[in-house]
Amino acid sequence: MNAEHPSTATAGAVPPPAETRPDVNNANVREDVAESGRCALVHLPTGRTCFLPLRHPGPCEFHRPQDVGDVLAGG
Ligand SMILES: [Zn+2]
Repeated sequence: MNAEHPSTATAGAVPPPAETRPDVNNANVREDVAESGRCALVHLPTGRTCFLPLRHPGPCEFHRPQDVGDVLAGG
């Protein structure tokens, strides 16, 4: 029995490493914010969210939940 496809053996056994990739942020985005055309990337350590437009240039700007109202209202 050859194990040429070991991916099935590790499924659910070992969690993948938590890598930070700006290109792949589906794992930590607020869907409600993303649906409004925002970046919506969540900074997990602080729980803040980026409300800049999707694919915005430069780094994310994370805002606290209580600041969301002002950001969305001002945009
Ligand atoms: Zn962002």
